[in-house]
Amino acid sequence: MDFEPWWLIFVPVLFALGWLAARFDIRQMLRETRSLPDSYFRGLNFLLNEEPDRAIDAFVEVAKLDPETTELHFALGSLFRRRGEMERAIRVHQSLLNRSDLPAAEREHAQHELAQDFLKAGMLDRAESGFEQLKDTRYALPALRSLIRIFESEHDWPRAIEAVKTLQGLVDEPVPQIVHYYCEQAQSALSSKPADIEAAHKALDAADHALSAIDAASSRGAMVRTAMLRARLALIEQDPKRERLYLESVMTDAAEYSGLVAEQVLANYRAANQAEAGLEVLQKQYERHASLDLFNVLFRELRVQQGAAPAWTFARSALRSHPSLLGLDRLLEAELANPEGGADHVPVPGADLTLLRSLIHKHTQRLDRYACRSCGFQARRFYWQCPGCNAWETYAPRRLEELE
Ligand SMILES: [Zn+2]
Repeated sequence: MDFEPWWLIFVPVLFALGWLAARFDIRQMLRETRSLPDSYFRGLNFLLNEEPDRAIDAFVEVAKLDPETTELHFALGSLFRRRGEMERAIRVHQSLLNRSDLPAAEREHAQHELAQDFLKAGMLDRAESGFEQLKDTRYALPALRSLIRIFESEHDWPRAIEAVKTLQGLVDEPVPQIVHYYCEQAQSALSSKPADIEAAHKALDAADHALSAIDAASSRGAMVRTAMLRARLALIEQDPKRERLYLESVMTDAAEYSGLVAEQVLANYRAANQAEAGLEVLQKQYERHASLDLFNVLFRELRVQQGAAPAWTFARSALRSHPSLLGLDRLLEAELANPEGGADHVPVPGADLTLLRSLIHKHTQRLDRYACRSCGFQARRFYWQCPGCNAWETYAPRRLEELE
């Protein structure tokens, strides 16, 4: 076909069409943008300016205008939950679940969110049944982990153990606190009246079995606890030799925990009429690993067995090598409680011990505590599980003063 000059007329026409098409696209885009409610942009703006309260108000308005936007509902729900506005979070997620047109995947997502709301709101029954329903979904793992936390907080150890086993059947995930679950079972078996010896043995065997599956570094506390419970069981079974073996295994294998068993060690030796030998064991242990709790037991026992003078000699040298206000406080406390011991011996001539103690005690009260490494919760007694954050083995067996 030959080129006809009049065809050139199409060139500007094509240009014009292209220009029109481009304009149409831009218009379309502008129209779509305009169809997004203003509140959406206001919300974004508030978020960027770090004003979450006002952002939430704006987004709530968008959600009202466009109830189909599930993503926005999910985002709002988890924002509410993070901010502790549980009623609102629950309402958002429940309204999502009430929709008949919600696809299965989003329904599971909403169910998981709702269960987390209930958990955070402390409605454990509803949280539990919510997580149970997710067993065969893609939320099975996080649901199981939450269930473990719930059973733990309900002190339902058999179910907690079952849930850990199910979890470990699904993934290779170490759950070192399972040893403590068995220890809790053993402890309540030993505390029941009369003690349930058989149940305690069974639980402790399971604890040992679980211990062998975790690495030594992360199981130190659990190992100590198991040995301490074995010692207690041996005492109930009137087997002091075995009790001593377990107590001394703690001092050999985990010297930093000696303070927790020192009293029992002494009681064991005393019961065998070997009080002096027991004192000697503790003195050696103190030389190997000095700690305040051990210092207290030793000082008191020295005073009972040998009198004020040797006790003070020990205390002076101990405080010289490990200066401790708490140690001094305990020492003065013991001295003031037994003034008759000092009749023939004035430990600090001319000193007003009562005044000295009241001065020191004021300062030591806040140091005389164990503290959680994870949340900082402080307690006068030692805990295997922090009452503040529910984490396991976050307490070092040392007083605050010794940690500084
Ligand atoms: Zn804590």
